[in-house]
Amino acid sequence: MRLIERTDAQVAEHGFRKVLVANRGEIAIRVFRACYDLELHTVAMYSNEDINALFRTKADEAYLIGENKSPLGAYLDIPGIIDLAKRRQVDAIHPGYGFLSENAEFARACEENGIQFIGPSSRVLAQMGDKLAAKATAVACGVPTIPGSKEPLKDGDEALERAISYGFPIILKAAAGGGGRGMRRCDTPEEVKPAFDLVRSEAKKAFGSEDIFIEKYLVEPKHIEVQILADQYGSVMHLGERDCSLQRRYQKVVEYAPAWSVSEQVRRRLHEDAVKVARHVGYVNAGTVEFLVDKQGNHYFIEMNPRIQVEHTVTEMVTGVDLVRAQILIAEGAPLSHPYIGLRTQDDLHVNGFAIQCRVTTEDPVNNFAPDTGKITAYRSGGGYGVRLDGGNAYTGAAISPYYDSLLVKVTSWDNTFEGACRRATRAIREEHVRGVKTNIPFVTNILTHPAFHAGACHTKFIDETPELFE
Ligand code: ADP
Repeated sequence: MRLIERTDAQVAEHGFRKVLVANRGEIAIRVFRACYDLELHTVAMYSNEDINALFRTKADEAYLIGENKSPLGAYLDIPGIIDLAKRRQVDAIHPGYGFLSENAEFARACEENGIQFIGPSSRVLAQMGDKLAAKATAVACGVPTIPGSKEPLKDGDEALERAISYGFPIILKAAAGGGGRGMRRCDTPEEVKPAFDLVRSEAKKAFGSEDIFIEKYLVEPKHIEVQILADQYGSVMHLGERDCSLQRRYQKVVEYAPAWSVSEQVRRRLHEDAVKVARHVGYVNAGTVEFLVDKQGNHYFIEMNPRIQVEHTVTEMVTGVDLVRAQILIAEGAPLSHPYIGLRTQDDLHVNGFAIQCRVTTEDPVNNFAPDTGKITAYRSGGGYGVRLDGGNAYTGAAISPYYDSLLVKVTSWDNTFEGACRRATRAIREEHVRGVKTNIPFVTNILTHPAFHAGACHTKFIDETPELFE
């Protein structure tokens, strides 16, 4: 039984009464928590496979969806989700990350059915969902991009011709790609045509679009991204940046804020350019502008992610702003100056200390990060001062299914100094005990204790080039 619920008067003043989360696992729980803090009634939806999942018990109401769909299909069932939202008189839908979070068609379906999509408009989603269109936007606002084709490539021959003109290495990318998929690096002319065919078939299958483009491949850059918040009244502000260079197969493993190993001057430029891009497209809500930064400190826009990101926790820990709560407030029509956001001007942003997030997954790094499945026979979590856990899939008896993301728990540490945050992250990670399924805990510990990590020297190829992390 809930103790708190918005009254009619509060609904009239603030906007929403009921929020549906069209997602699962840790991000669903994260959103329910923010809703609770705003006295909002919560609705969960779950697939057949998730009938015993923890997240559904964290909402006020929970409904089975996509009974006849695949495990993934259930969370992608736009008509089914809209129908549920209407039947349960939901005011707004939070899409989380992954699944339908960047789907313009879903946002449009919400708009057309009088349901507030907690994110940017379908128009902006359509524009940012295509990496080539997003790059063109950056170019239009004078933000640097990586040299590459401006239009989709016609065929493998054109890819090869352009690769030779840019010089190797190059990277082929699916315009609609995401999650580290639909990308292939080529170091020699012989690799280009087969890679083009591979990326094209992968892109068609995974993203429903065959548009491929080519870019110069930057050697050992850092991935630095800027968190943006924008309200409905034209206020666009940044909340600092995150270093997400620790990646395996183009996917992030450990992230931290601020990106202290990049100069103040470069970071300032990133902030300015991120705000420029967001402002240019009329962005509303939370978003992230991603850049690669080379050794000389040159920065290049790569894409904009129009949703909450997995690694948003580190920004929250150093800025004190609850980003998910801010997303909901903005969707309700609150300005960035709202006391819960507290950004009347950009000068109101204060970055305090350092935060590190580690993604604990049920993957075996030694076995090429193959996901492990089965039952968790014992689970003990880390904790203590300066440690935050965002989980939902990890508890004794939990079944880890092969159908979904292998993220088990996000361990985020904070301290006044980066060294202190490293120590706390290491301590908390070592306190995590998971039996029954393999995890990447030893691997993450090796990253956290590596001298290059402490020196801020890690670039996007660090994991691939550091075999001792796998020992
Ligand atoms: P996704 O949308 O799948 O996340 P991104 O475009 O954001 O893909 O790129 C993910 C990662 O791929 C980057 O953080 C970086 O490590 C690598 N990457 C992308 N483009 C390039 C490039 N031109 N040169 C070098 N690395 C790149």
